[in-house]
Amino acid sequence: MSLIDIKCQDKAISRLQRSLASNRLAQAYIFSGPEGIGKYLTARELAKTILCRNPLRTEVNSRPFLDSCGKCDSCLLFEGNGHPDFNHIYKELVKFSSKSYSSRTSPVDMPKDVVQEYLIDKVNMKPVKSEHTVFVVSESEKMNAFSQNALLKTLEEPPTFCTIILLCSKPDRLLPTIHSRCQQVRFGMVDRRLIVSRLVDQGCREQEALYWAGFTQGSLGESLEAAKLKNQEFDCFKMKQNLIKMVFELKLPETLEFADWISQQVKNVSALLAQLYSETSKSDLSRRAQRMMINIIISAFSDLLRLSSGVDFIVNTDQSDLLNSYTETINPVAAARFVEKCNENLRWVDRSVNEKLNFEELLLTYVSSDIIR
Ligand SMILES: [Zn+2]
Repeated sequence: MSLIDIKCQDKAISRLQRSLASNRLAQAYIFSGPEGIGKYLTARELAKTILCRNPLRTEVNSRPFLDSCGKCDSCLLFEGNGHPDFNHIYKELVKFSSKSYSSRTSPVDMPKDVVQEYLIDKVNMKPVKSEHTVFVVSESEKMNAFSQNALLKTLEEPPTFCTIILLCSKPDRLLPTIHSRCQQVRFGMVDRRLIVSRLVDQGCREQEALYWAGFTQGSLGESLEAAKLKNQEFDCFKMKQNLIKMVFELKLPETLEFADWISQQVKNVSALLAQLYSETSKSDLSRRAQRMMINIIISAFSDLLRLSSGVDFIVNTDQSDLLNSYTETINPVAAARFVEKCNENLRWVDRSVNEKLNFEELLLTYVSSDIIR
């Protein structure tokens, strides 16, 4: 793996290449864009190139392209996740922090102690192996005002040998003063055809690949992740088909039982996510699974609204017969209002509202609003 292998972010990478080739790399960057579109991967491969002792100089589209060699001792250390000059900062580092006396190992926000100990205190340390140091901060939007203010001074005058990259999916949560000290690189959505072909290459059925590419709105990382959510007992794609069918057929007396069923699916998805992300906290994984359930419901009702207004581009192509059978009986105004309601409950997930209450409330709203007449 190297920079040239990242096929889906040509614009962002060619922008970084212009700086690399002219040896005018900025000292601080914000890589912004939705989750799962290659921000971390690009930051990692850029870091490997910056740290490489013998970078390869090639050309792409008749422009110079600098890449890691993959062979020098720096590249080998990097590949083995042991490069002393590469620092990845993420909120779960709190469990290793010597400064934090908090017993929380799965914080919601990025703790200030983590930013202080793993970035601010280390930034002036000279490189050990290479001529540079690189710091990559994941989910930088989760830094609170204290952490961001603490970081400002570092961003004002970082040592010349150091590059700091803030990865961010919600740029409006970073202070304007942070933005003004960093160069912005925007990452765009990945072409759906590319996602489908990658998923199919990995053994995913085409119908399923099409769904995940549409469901994640062009996030390659999230699509690859979703396609992995299956084992002998549980198949996430089949679960989503059942979930949609059951929502459409739901009647008031079954509401609480159905909310229990959804909670069980949240547990199933969280357990599989935990196998993919051993570093991520359980509460974060559960929130991710809860958001997935609500987003599946949103995808179904958005599709129904599209079909009922004559648009045939839908996400749930695998269930088009089912959806079409409801287009005559749907109340579009009520359905649109319900999608809005789903978005509100999505925000509740982020605010750690009790999971069961959240689903019960959402489903009770649904059965009492006559969306399907
Ligand atoms: Zn190298």
